[in-house]
Amino acid sequence: MSRPNGLVVSIDGTAGTGKSSVGRAVAEKIGYGFLSTGGLYRALAYKVFANKVDPTDTQAVLQTAQAISFTFERQPDATLKMFVDGEFLGGKLHLDEVAQTASKVSTNAAARAVLTEKMREVGKDGGIIMEGRDIGTIVFPDAEVKIYLDATAQERANRRVRQLLSKGFEADYAQILASIQERDLRDSTRAASPLKPAEDAIKIDTSSMTMPQVVHAVLKEINKYAS
Ligand code: C5P
Repeated sequence: MSRPNGLVVSIDGTAGTGKSSVGRAVAEKIGYGFLSTGGLYRALAYKVFANKVDPTDTQAVLQTAQAISFTFERQPDATLKMFVDGEFLGGKLHLDEVAQTASKVSTNAAARAVLTEKMREVGKDGGIIMEGRDIGTIVFPDAEVKIYLDATAQERANRRVRQLLSKGFEADYAQILASIQERDLRDSTRAASPLKPAEDAIKIDTSSMTMPQVVHAVLKEINKYAS
């Protein structure tokens, strides 16, 4: 399939596999845009929380999703910066509570359909790397290059601990590991668009790889397609 601005590259996988860091780095190298789609689910979770909506109330969560206006602004580092009803929510979306609520509201099939349409709108012309859980399976089953990243839960928890400590935050390994495992289980067993590799995805286990090695492996797959 030919798109005006280039390929759609999907990067799916479990939480904490480095999908965002890798996707952003690859996008920057090849001049593509980069969208982390978890941001849309996190934004929905934030709004559900702010509007005191019950995350298990299917209809209210759907209405909340429908009411959100998303706009995106391309940044020099390739990232598509997301504005939610005109507001940049930044670090507020990265609280663990928001991630857990995001994982809960993302079991809502009707709300997923609303957010999926927004993602398709952003990516349809290509020239984009999109990172998430169901990009290669549901959002862009026709993505030209599909990558699926994974790593052991222990290694992902270790990475998160190192990341938090380097930013001067406290980090509790056992609690982080439990949170990762809880989210993995919910994401991969939900009925609506569960996390799983697309049949034609290239699977990369990043447990014992450095970030530059993963970036290199993904670039190789993109070049293979392009040549
Ligand atoms: O990737 P991130 O940690 O920001 O995603 C937050 C949550 O959003 C995930 O745990 C998952 O439940 C949901 N999500 C999803 N489909 C996507 C991206 C994220 O269900 N494409």
